[in-house]
Order: sequence, then structure tokens, then C-alpha cells
Amino acid sequence: MTQADAPGARSVTLPRHITVRELSEALGVTPVDIIKELMKRGVMAAINQSVEYEMAAGVAKDLGFEAEPEAASGGVGERMEHGDEAADMKPRPPVVTVMGHVDHGKTSLLDAIRQTNVVASEAGAITQHIGAYQVMVPNPDDPKQPKKVTFIDTPGHEAFTAMRARGATVTDLVVLVVAADDGLMPQTREAIDHTKAAGVPMIVAINKVDLPAADPTRVKTQLTEVGVVVEEYGGDVPAIEVSAKTKQGLDDLLVNVLLVAEIAELKANPDRPAEGTVIESEKDPSRGPMATVIIQKGTLHIGNIVVAGEAWGKVKAMFDDKGRRIKEAGPSTPAEIMGLEAVPKAGDVIFVADDERTARDMAEQRGREDAEAAQSRAVTLEAVSGDIAAGRVKDLNVILKADVQGSLEAIRSSLERLSGQEVRVNVIHAAAGNINESDVMLAAASKAIIVGFNVKTEPGGRNQSEIAGVDIRNYRIIYELIEDVEKAVKGLMEPVIAEVTDGHAEVRAIFRVRGGRIAGCMVQDGFVRRNSLARVLRGGEMIHDSRVSSLKRFTEDVREVTNGLECGIGVEKFDKWEEGDVIEAYHTEQRG
Ligand code: GDP
Repeated sequence: MTQADAPGARSVTLPRHITVRELSEALGVTPVDIIKELMKRGVMAAINQSVEYEMAAGVAKDLGFEAEPEAASGGVGERMEHGDEAADMKPRPPVVTVMGHVDHGKTSLLDAIRQTNVVASEAGAITQHIGAYQVMVPNPDDPKQPKKVTFIDTPGHEAFTAMRARGATVTDLVVLVVAADDGLMPQTREAIDHTKAAGVPMIVAINKVDLPAADPTRVKTQLTEVGVVVEEYGGDVPAIEVSAKTKQGLDDLLVNVLLVAEIAELKANPDRPAEGTVIESEKDPSRGPMATVIIQKGTLHIGNIVVAGEAWGKVKAMFDDKGRRIKEAGPSTPAEIMGLEAVPKAGDVIFVADDERTARDMAEQRGREDAEAAQSRAVTLEAVSGDIAAGRVKDLNVILKADVQGSLEAIRSSLERLSGQEVRVNVIHAAAGNINESDVMLAAASKAIIVGFNVKTEPGGRNQSEIAGVDIRNYRIIYELIEDVEKAVKGLMEPVIAEVTDGHAEVRAIFRVRGGRIAGCMVQDGFVRRNSLARVLRGGEMIHDSRVSSLKRFTEDVREVTNGLECGIGVEKFDKWEEGDVIEAYHTEQRG
């Protein structure tokens, strides 16, 4: 925010959110003056509390300023890109995530790789669990130059997709573990869909080949049936037979990891300020907030000032995956860092800031942007329909869940047939069973909607969908399901007008005024605004529905009264108040 230099110009640029203190500084008045102005508008705000642009601009106007919104740029999401010249780009180790069905041996495989591939001098060093580790792999081209591979130590697609839903793709390559005696199972299919949705290359590790019941050929055939064609069958997915128990095939698996990484030409510029992703974090009782990060670009040094999501701090110490102190961490290196002021979340981006003040401001701003970002990432069928009508969207991603395999296949092919020249319907994941948290994460990460046929949404999925704003639609009639998606694809779906409750006020006393009666109330939750839509409830039943015609605090007219405050409320065309009535204030919103 900047106050115009020219005397008398009195114009001011304000961001989308601003604290009372910042607003007072921008306008050159005391915070008390701002608080008074806000109170006139019925808003009780403390000095460090934020208000939205509209409110701040109104206050500025009353104090004789002309406010303008700050340009949308300059947010945390739009940090300056350091120009990385092609010549600065150096090869970096691949970052690998292991996925697969429960009990197929993901953890055993990660352990076996860790045990067999520590460098001799490190043998005996206690490996710390920091969420990721690096191993040295013999280089077939040059035995003197072993290469590094980074493994993320939290196996499974849930964590992988939860990170993607937060906007982070750390993984370069997925190792899909399939037990040779068990074959493809539901979570194997899920892992395949999650990997495809992320567009990450895959290597299959057919595990437990030491068992007499092992049948690797059956696994390969099953993979072909779900569209994963292994090299042996003419496809491009390497499939390696391994045993985490006897360690057979592990070297071969790692060499293939290196080959796939080579094809992907993974490179980063190590000589620039670091940027990476938090993969694990915790509050250590003696060391304070600790975060394991994987650096993706640049090099992180001790003493760097960093922002990680809503946390910031100065890197006081760094440790590698063996718990040894390190001074710096380059691309693809996992490091545990100490010195943050708060605990960041897995999936948060970490980057180096110029100084402490900037870091603190960016962390605060990130906190405010987080909730909005979740909303803007969300996709609803109505919104997609509107975008399609406006020619902005070419794809509709769908996650399909149905009660039985039979209906699943029928719905899937009907949906895919809706694809036309303009819009493609992609069923990115289809499975029998209830809608769960993992489906919601995949939807959030892939901008998809979830359609269910004769299924329920599990509580975890429901909670997550509310946080991530994912659109879940349940149907009992196939025809209606198809018709809704068809309408969306044609851009014909009407936007839904949804009702949002703002707050409730209980009537405690009734006052006679000129022209009628008003209710003396206590706001019990949320807020009530003048001119807001409102209904009167008596014993839980609605007896009147119109709007708030007058709102007073003591004798003053106010715009808003919040939770815990008393006020006088008049409702249009209604005055038959009784004590105990409840006024429900609400507004409507267009979804989509
Ligand atoms: P996860 O759930 O995928 O992480 O699977 P685990 O690594 O916990 O392994 C599940 C079970 O399979 C354990 O009892 C392991 O000992 C066993 N297991 C894992 N890999 C192998 C293998 O290569 N051969 C045999 N025979 N058993 C294995």
C-alpha cells in the first residue's frame, strides 16, 4: 500500500486484506481512528485483525481518501522467477515414491533398498527417519561414479495425492509394488490412476517372487488389462521381478529407476536461492519446529531466511537422512531443517526470502491466501459447465464410484461417449465402493468432480470435500447421472443458487417504536447485517421470510452486528415478535 506523494491527491492503494495497523499506517491516522470508523460500520476489529478491501476502502473514503485495489500480482504465489539459463541446469537425482496395495511389500522394499545401498563408510550409521532418504546406486556406465536416488519414505498414494492437492508435485517417478502371489488389488488400481493423473512415469516392481505361489506372468497380464503395458509386452513400462526378502532384483530395479530418470532429463540449477517442498514436519520438544524438505531448485544454506507455507524462520541447523549436520542441501536432497517459528504442513512450498521482514509478511499473506486458494482450486459441475460455455475448458475430469463393477463399466462408457470435438470427458479413476478421502484428494489434485452411483460418502471424504470444496454428486438413477454430465459438457447447466447462513440472533425483549415493533436481540453466532435476507423461526419452524429492515446498536444505526453483541432488529413486514424467536440471517450465492 502506498500513499500518493502529491499533497492533496489523497489516493491510496490497498491490498485485498489489510490489518487495522497497516491501514492506519497507509492513511497516516491512528489505529484508534480506524477502529472507531470500523465500529461505526458495526465491525469490532482489534489492531492486528484483517479487514477486507471493501471495508478498508469504505473507511478510507470516510477519512477523505480515494482507495484503489492493489493489482492482483505480487502475491506469494508469484514470486520472482530467477532466470535459469539452460547452461546453469545440472542433472539432479530422481525423487521416487513407492505405491501399491497394502501388504504387497512397500515398506519391506524401501527398507531392503536402504540396507543394501548405503555407502561402505556409512554402514552402521543409524538411519534417521526424516521422511526421505538417498541411496547410492552403482552406475552401469561408470562404476567409479555411483549415482544418487532419493526415496520418499512414506509409501502409498494417499500422501502423494494429498501433497498434489496442496499444489506440490515432488515425485519424479513412481515404483508400483505388486505382490507376485496376490496380483492386482483395489489399491494397486487406485495407485495406477493416481500416478496417471499426476502424469508421472512408473516402474512396476513385481515383489515376493521368492514365494512358491508367485506368478509374475499373471501380474503382467492383469496390468495390460488396466492399460499398463509392460516393456516385455511391447509397452513402455519396465517391470522388474524382485524380492524384498532375498533382495533379488533390487539392483536391476534401481538401474531402471536411473534409466527412466535419464529419459526424463531431470535437471535443476543448483546456484540459485533454494526452493523445495515440505514432506514431513513435527514439533520436537527440545529442538522446536522441525521440517523435512526436499529441495527442488537451488541450494539451501544454513543462515538462509525461509518461508514455508504459513511458517518462516532462519535455518539454524540442517541434518541429512543419517542425522548428520550438513551446511547445505542441493536439488533432490532431503534435509531436516531447524529454525522455523512454526510447524509448516506437508506439501507446503519452502523458499528463500530476502530478509526477515519480507519472510514474515509473506508467511502471513500465505495464511490468508491458503483458504482462498483451496476454494479457487475447487471444481463444480456448474462451474465447469459455465467454463465450457465460455470456451475456457476442454476437459472434464471425473472420478466415478459405483456400488458394483457392472454398473461402473456401463456408466463409464456412457460418460466417455459424451466426449465431443470441443470437450473431452476423462474418467480418471473408476472403482466400486464408497467415496473416500483418497478420492476427494485425487479430485482436488486433478481438478475433477466425483460422481457416485448408489454409494455413500464416508465421513473422512465428506470432511475433506468441505475443506477442499470438491463437488460430490450422488445419484440413484443412471439416466440422471448421465444427463447432468451431458448438460455440463454442453455448457447448459444452470448455476445453482446456494443459500449461506450468516448468523442467528435470539429475541430477548420486544420494543415498541414508531410504526411498529422491533426485537431486542443477542447475536448467538456469526453476524447479522442490515438489509440481509432473514427469516423468523419460532420453535424451529419458519414463520416469516423477508429481510432485515433496521439494525441498531443502542440508538445508532449500524451495518453489522457480530456474535455476542446485543442489538435491535427490525424485519420487513413483520412485527408479531415473541421472546425466544430466532432470526436467521442469510445470503445467497451463485455456485458456478
Ligand atoms: P506394505 O503394507 O506394502 O508396506 O507391506 P510390508 O512391507 O509391510 O510387507 C507385508 C508382508 O509381506 C510382511 O509380512 C513382509 O515380511 C512380507 N514381504 C514383503 N516383501 C516380501 C518378499 O519379497 N517376499 C516374501 N516372502 N515376503 C515379503
